[in-house]
Amino acid sequence: MSQNQFNAEIIIVDDNQFQLKLLSHQLEMVGYESVMAFDNGQAALCYMTGRVLDSTVVILDLNMPNMDGLEFLQALKETNYSGALLLVSGEDERVVQSAETLALSYNLFVLGHLSKPAQQHQLQKYLNEFSAPKEALPDTGNQKVYTADRLRQAIKAGELTNVYQPKVLVSTGELKGIEALVRWEHPEDGEVLPDRFIHLAEENGLIDEIARQVLREAFYDSKLLKDLGMDITLAVNISMYNLNTREFISYLEKELQSSGLSPQDLILEITESRLMKDYLLVLDMLTRLRLRRVSLSIDDFGTGHSSMAQLRDIPFNELKIDGSFVHSACDNATLHGIFDGSLQTAKNLGIRTVAEGVEDEADWNFLENSDCDTAQGFFIGRPMKAMELVAWREQWTQRCAKIAV
Ligand code: C2E
Ligand code: MG
Ligand code: MG
Repeated sequence: MSQNQFNAEIIIVDDNQFQLKLLSHQLEMVGYESVMAFDNGQAALCYMTGRVLDSTVVILDLNMPNMDGLEFLQALKETNYSGALLLVSGEDERVVQSAETLALSYNLFVLGHLSKPAQQHQLQKYLNEFSAPKEALPDTGNQKVYTADRLRQAIKAGELTNVYQPKVLVSTGELKGIEALVRWEHPEDGEVLPDRFIHLAEENGLIDEIARQVLREAFYDSKLLKDLGMDITLAVNISMYNLNTREFISYLEKELQSSGLSPQDLILEITESRLMKDYLLVLDMLTRLRLRRVSLSIDDFGTGHSSMAQLRDIPFNELKIDGSFVHSACDNATLHGIFDGSLQTAKNLGIRTVAEGVEDEADWNFLENSDCDTAQGFFIGRPMKAMELVAWREQWTQRCAKIAV
């Protein structure tokens, strides 16, 4: 047990006196001396006002009369509570999960949730994970907002570059393909991730130029890897905004032809956008690309509002199940259910499946017991420079052999 835990103050908020006593006793048993118990939210908030709470863990019951757990969470948000939080409830697992999602969206540091009565080993497990909360909070320091002009300048100056993440076969671990992901190498701010500038590019007419640069570099790198003996597919993310003009597709076809790659090597990963000017044009161009043997993949499946409608209309031949339904699906019945449903939908339509967000060995084992074709995620390999893939493949083959034992 770390020094930190003994220093932590625990605040229990639960309207049930028996639960308060039980939890206090359990905490004493695992070595916590500083435990405050409150049978209502207001009293707890009163106690917390004006205190430094960085080393505090609040153990919160959701179902309470007067101020319920959700109102208490809202109050924690409003007071910028800086400690940690553990939810305890006798409610249905999905209700507790939703409360946890809410707490996370309030930027609260949530250790997890427990069902009543809380098991001592579970309580200990979560508290063991508790270290200085500030380290665990997402880094909001580098959330600088960029202007379209600065992005335009970056594109011109060649500050945008590609990294590649491996996609492997679940059955054998064999490298099947790579996905190109754009990075902005900002001279002052370091690596800037695409979520911070793709929307800006889409809204300011810069997305075509980004896509052209990404494609050009990706074709070049893929050809190098091919010449090194890697027989792999290349996936590139394409915004729906890129499909608003016919010129973009002509450009793509021309570059592909001169790259020495074949259309069968290319997969375009499409994510839905909020705005699609001309759906029929998009449909026309994507269908044409399929006729020319380029593959189409529906990215982040399950997260959008019209994924099913897109699946109905566009001739996708690959479906990427979003990482939020893959990571931890092995011990979460809701995720498991959604994952199985997505997989079954793809199988029914006769299209390949990729699981994104494979973050740990449990996720990998889960996939091995599923019918999913391909996997991608930090557990397998992080996005990297093209030439780093050679050494990565060696290491992954060795790791795969060990996992299989
Ligand atoms: P995406 O296409 O779904 O790409 C997967 C994202 O998940 C990547 O984030 C990748 O680094 C991340 N990722 C991979 N494995 C894991 C994992 O195990 N756990 C977690 N939590 N994340 C993982 P990245 O590179 O920040 O890209 C974010 C999104 O930006 C992409 O999502 C894609 O929609 C978009 N994007 C990236 N490159 C381009 C591009 O060249 N053009 C366009 N239009 N969009 C791009
Ligand atoms: Mg993608
Ligand atoms: Mg995705």
